[in-house]
Amino acid sequence: MNQDSPPATAPWYRFSPQETLHQLQSRPDGLSPAEAAERLVQHGANSLPNKPRDPGWLRFARQFNDMLIYVLLVAAVLTALMGHWVDTLVILGVTVVNAAIGFLQENSAEKSLERIRGMLSNHAMVSRAGERCDIDAATLVPGDIVHLKPGDKIPADLRLLEVHDLKVEEAILTGESTVVDKRSAALPGEALIGDRLNLAYSGTTVSAGTACGVVIATGSATELGQINRMMGEVDAITTPLLRQIRQLGKVIFFLILAMMAGLFVYARLLHDIPLGELLLSLISLAVASVPEGLPAIISIILSLGVQRMARNHAIIRKLPTVETLGAMTIVCSDKTGTLTMNEMTVKAVILADGQYAVGGESYDPVGEIRADDGSMPDLTPGTPFQRFITAIHLCNDARLARGDDGRWCIVGAPTAGALQVLAAKAGLQFDDVRQLDKIPFDSAYKYQASHHMVDGEAMVLVTGAPDVIAALCQTEQGAAGPQPYRLDYWDTQITSHAENGLRMLAAAYKPLPADHGELTHDDLKDELVFLGVAGMMDPPRPEAIAAIRQCQAAGIRVKMITGDHQGTAMAIGAMLGIGDGHTAVTGTQLQRLSDEELVAVARDCDIFARTSPEHKLRLVRALQATGNVVGMTGDGVNDAPALKQADVGIAMGIKGTEVTKEAADMVLTDDNFDTIARAVQEGRRVYDNLKKTILFILPTNLGQGLLVLIALLAGATVPLTPLQILWMNMATSVTLSFGLAFEPAEPGLMQRQPRPASANILGTYGIWRIAFVGLMLAACGFVLESQLLARGHDSDFVRTMLLQTLVAGQWAYMFNCRLAERFSLTRAIWRNKGLWLVSGILLLLQLAIVYLPAMNEMFGTTPLPLTYWGISLAIAACLFVVVELEKWLVRKWTAHAGCKGRK
Ligand code: ADP
Ligand code: MG
Repeated sequence: MNQDSPPATAPWYRFSPQETLHQLQSRPDGLSPAEAAERLVQHGANSLPNKPRDPGWLRFARQFNDMLIYVLLVAAVLTALMGHWVDTLVILGVTVVNAAIGFLQENSAEKSLERIRGMLSNHAMVSRAGERCDIDAATLVPGDIVHLKPGDKIPADLRLLEVHDLKVEEAILTGESTVVDKRSAALPGEALIGDRLNLAYSGTTVSAGTACGVVIATGSATELGQINRMMGEVDAITTPLLRQIRQLGKVIFFLILAMMAGLFVYARLLHDIPLGELLLSLISLAVASVPEGLPAIISIILSLGVQRMARNHAIIRKLPTVETLGAMTIVCSDKTGTLTMNEMTVKAVILADGQYAVGGESYDPVGEIRADDGSMPDLTPGTPFQRFITAIHLCNDARLARGDDGRWCIVGAPTAGALQVLAAKAGLQFDDVRQLDKIPFDSAYKYQASHHMVDGEAMVLVTGAPDVIAALCQTEQGAAGPQPYRLDYWDTQITSHAENGLRMLAAAYKPLPADHGELTHDDLKDELVFLGVAGMMDPPRPEAIAAIRQCQAAGIRVKMITGDHQGTAMAIGAMLGIGDGHTAVTGTQLQRLSDEELVAVARDCDIFARTSPEHKLRLVRALQATGNVVGMTGDGVNDAPALKQADVGIAMGIKGTEVTKEAADMVLTDDNFDTIARAVQEGRRVYDNLKKTILFILPTNLGQGLLVLIALLAGATVPLTPLQILWMNMATSVTLSFGLAFEPAEPGLMQRQPRPASANILGTYGIWRIAFVGLMLAACGFVLESQLLARGHDSDFVRTMLLQTLVAGQWAYMFNCRLAERFSLTRAIWRNKGLWLVSGILLLLQLAIVYLPAMNEMFGTTPLPLTYWGISLAIAACLFVVVELEKWLVRKWTAHAGCKGRK
């Protein structure tokens, strides 16, 4: 921090705007880029240090806090007591390896989530050397001039210079959740933080209005930095599924415990097995039944999914969303920009004295404006056309600009930009224009207004949704001046244009003295003169049409929620394939319904027009009331409550405000509906792969457990040593289950109905499969063992062969698990490189344990002749065929039951 800059505690609120600027050596049109760069070096980046994380050793130690690991730790203690040091060391080694995997995984998952969230960096609109530009908020410096609009998160501490109805939510600082009205005048005397009405604090949010202010403090020097409220903390990495798995772990733990106790008593009483040997067997049982690698592999699959979605323009802000996406049954989407291109072109102008067709495409300001009778519009001051163009040109925040490549583009919102293009086509010139005050656009009231001095004439200009503007007018601008408003004329005209899918925007004006003072909503209540309506085309996105069809095929209903005219909404809906083409519920109708009535309407209707943001919240609740899993999109600050309520709140990355993004579960970096469909597909794939992995791992544990159990019940020695069992659990199953993590989406994934949200990941069929395969593995092992023993092989050889066969069986079963229901050996098998990679690694691991002398020594194995590899592979192949047969039978049976059910 440099010494000569005024301290952050300077009483900025007591200074006048001019004095503040002077103190900060800044100007109303901003710092120059060079000054800004210099100050950035001096003051450092405008960011807060991240919340310190728990120390590494603590996070590592926490990995041991798991029921199933306790089992292993107890086993280690018991083997140590019995003096089986090698076993103790290996079991401890396993717990350490397991903790290390968990630790590394957690780290990398957190890092990648953080990095992905970092892609949503805060932006700020600043003036630099007179030019407005959008910069990364981290590069803000004291003295920068920042412009605020609704939904912005205030990027640094600001002294407000100019305020238009600014309302700020400061709960994060003051704890009070009411919004504060801001102003720019200096305040005398001492004021507490909450009373410094001309300051806006970093981290608080704009709920309405606009303003501009000068940065007085950045980074840790801000109030927020000083009270040390850390931002951007990382959420715990947990999801409903992970919790289900942990629950499952507990069940397995208690089952093992109960079984061990039962067996202990049984074996001591009936078989009189020596205590040491019995304990060793019980330890084997415990080790065999614990699915050690499961939690780690599940978080890996989830975080791989998150990374893939981020590459496809969908940024997941909350991990559980990956799962919820796969269960989504309804998605409610905005129209403008998400379903449509958001590239508006005015096609028609409707005035009191006639209609005009507008030529030209895109933002090039070339194109003829012609009246119905072929005549050119009259630009003489005072005519309806001249007044209309004046209104849409001046009551407008956008500006037409020429890019470096010479192409025309707009700076600002597309709706406003399209109006500027129209004004440029009309070619109207003004000598002297001055803006006195304004009310910014908000989709809650759907208009904007501006108080202007135009060539010596003071007036208010208003643009907005036609029905809203019409409600404020009693007169319309005719060729000879104001005349009574013709309701029928305008209704017919607006409806017929809306039916062609044109988005409607009306303009009105009235004289208002220049010394009127602050412009308020009440000033617009009377004597406005209706000027006319512009109809603009915003074509549907071609990819949205396909994506909607895809969602519908996947059992997800798509609903459109828009602030636009119902005619426009229905016409666009028809082009997109949403709704039945003749029903749309308007916000006004919606308002009259009780919550109970709304439930049915929300379910049956697909198009909601003329809605305000608060309707979205009611709609989400109504849809959830019938058990739907609802996705809802939003961009404005008022959409945040609806996004929070929705199961999947989806914010727009480009158009969306900071507040909306923070309330969302997922952010679309391209604002495109297509991205939602692709995220759903990815969500379903991830869930499928998790299920496949679990169905793959658990039978192996069951099979091993059963083998030990059978041996104990029969009073025989346990076929595998604890070490060998650990080898199978840690080295081979974990390696193999990675193969399934990379499994591509199953064909028909998006033709399935969404999975019921409450469904258990295993389900009855899953439990059956685990039992069936587990039993089969155990039976194979048991038969093989007795056959080999009968032929007089020594116990090391039998164990090695048993190990080899079980691993081969697991490997074959992995291929079974590729596809849940279909025949597994499809051509897509070559696309999953992971499958072949893990197969290669597995082969190396098996070669090592079977042939390396050191490994033989440690694991009690012995080299196998090649024929025995053949035998183990043959058994594995049989296993594969049996499981495929089972799948085939189940398929037949469910198809049959399905037919019967349909009759
Ligand atoms: P949506 O995004 O669902 O199309 P909006 O809430 O953005 O709806 O807009 C609703 C209506 O408000 C539009 O149909 C248009 O008539 C009007 N409108 C939109 N943007 C502006 C603007 N910048 N200035 C004036 N009126 C606007
Ligand atoms: Mg909108």
